[in-house]
Amino acid sequence: MNIHEYQAKALLREFGVPVSRGVPVLKASEAEAAAKELGGPVWVVKSQIHAGGRGKGKFKEASAGDKGGVRLAKSADEVKQFVKEMLGATLVTVQTGPAGKQVNRLYIEEGSEIDKEFYLSALVDRETSRVSFVVSTEGGVNIEEVAHKTPEKIVTFSIDPATGVMAHHGRTVAEALKLRGDLAKQAEKLVAQLYAAFVAKDMAMLEINPLVVTKQNQLRCLDAKVSFDDNALYRHPELLALRDTTEEDEKEIEASKFDLAYIALDGSIGCMVNGAGLAMATLDIIKLYGESPANFLDVGGGATVEKVTAAFKIITSDPNVKGILVNIFGGIMKCDVIAQGVIAAVEAVGLKVPLVVRLEGTNVEEGKKIIRESGLNVLPADDLDDAAQKIVNAVKGK
Ligand code: GDP
Ligand code: MG
Repeated sequence: MNIHEYQAKALLREFGVPVSRGVPVLKASEAEAAAKELGGPVWVVKSQIHAGGRGKGKFKEASAGDKGGVRLAKSADEVKQFVKEMLGATLVTVQTGPAGKQVNRLYIEEGSEIDKEFYLSALVDRETSRVSFVVSTEGGVNIEEVAHKTPEKIVTFSIDPATGVMAHHGRTVAEALKLRGDLAKQAEKLVAQLYAAFVAKDMAMLEINPLVVTKQNQLRCLDAKVSFDDNALYRHPELLALRDTTEEDEKEIEASKFDLAYIALDGSIGCMVNGAGLAMATLDIIKLYGESPANFLDVGGGATVEKVTAAFKIITSDPNVKGILVNIFGGIMKCDVIAQGVIAAVEAVGLKVPLVVRLEGTNVEEGKKIIRESGLNVLPADDLDDAAQKIVNAVKGK
C-alpha cells in the first residue's frame, strides 16, 4: 500500500525525522489559512498523488499553468492562485503514464533554502534478508540514471536485524554524502530514526529524494515516498486509515475485497488462473503467441464459487478485455468448482468475448462435463499451449 507524501512526512515526524512544517489542503478555500499558518516568506505547493516526478510533471489543463506539480510561491496570494490552478487538474509525470492522475489534495509547506540535494532510500533486500539503505550525493534527479551511468556515486549497505543501526552505519552515510562535523552527527541520527520508522511500520520501501542540506546547515527530508508491506497491514489499523482508494485501480480494490491476487495490466486477454507460478507462465505464453494479458489473477487454492464469480466479473468489467483464458490446474482447487463459478459468473454478467477454458487435475471430468452441458459458447483446450493459441486466434478474429 502506498500513501501520500504529506502522510509519510507526518508519520516520519513521529520518529523525530526532520521534515518541513506543512498543511494539507483538500479545498481551495483552505489555502489562505494554510499560507497564514505557515507564515512564509516562501511556500511550496505540492501535488499529492501516488507518483513521483511531480516537479517536472505537466498538467493536462491549460488553466493549471505550466509550472509543474511542485511550485514555489513567494506570497500568500500566489499560494492561493496555485491552489486554485492545481486542485482538480490532471498531472502527467514520468510515473503516472500518459493518462495522468487527478490532483485532489495539495500539501503546502514552508519553503526551505537548499544548499545541497542528496538521495536516500531504504528497502527490504531479499538477497540479504535485511533492510538495505541506498545513498547518493546525486539527489533530486533520476536515481536509475545515476545507477546506470555513474554507479560509483551510489553507496549501499544493509542493517543486521540482530544489532539494528550501529554508529558505523551513520558514519558510512556521512562519508558517502561528504558531511562533516555537526552535519555528520545529524546524518547518524537520521539513519537511526528512519530505520526505526521502517521497522516499526513494516515498510517495504522508503525513499527520500531529495534529502537536503539547508543554507542553515540542517539535514531535512524534502520529499518522502513510502510503501508498506500489504501482508503486515493487519497489524497497523492506523496505516489502513491512510489508504486513499481514489489512487488505486478500481478492479484491484474490488479484487482485494475477495482476497484475490489481481494486478491490472494493459493487454487484451483476461486471465483467470490458480497459482502465481501458473499465472506467470500463462502471461508469458500469451505473449509468446503475440498478444498481451489484461491482468494477472491468481484465484488461489481454496477458491469458492463466489470467489470465482467475483474474479470473472472483475475481468469482464475491463473494457480492454477482448477474450478470456481460464487456466486451472486443479490440485486443492477443484475443476468442477471452477466450472460452476465460470457458469454462475457468465449467467450473472453475460459473455461478450470469446472464452477458452483449460482444466486439468482434480475432478477434471466433472468440470468439463459441467461446461459442456451448460450450453455456453466455450472453447475447450487440452493444454496450456493449445489454450494460449486458441485464445490469441479468437482475439485476432481467426
Ligand atoms: P517530485 O518531483 O515528485 O520528486 O517532488 P519533490 O518533493 O522531490 O519536489 C521536486 C523538487 O522541488 C525538489 O527536488 C526540489 O528541488 C524542489 N523543492 C521541493 N521543496 C522545496 C523547498 O522547500 N524549497 C526549494 N527551494 N525547492 C524545493
Ligand atoms: Mg522527489
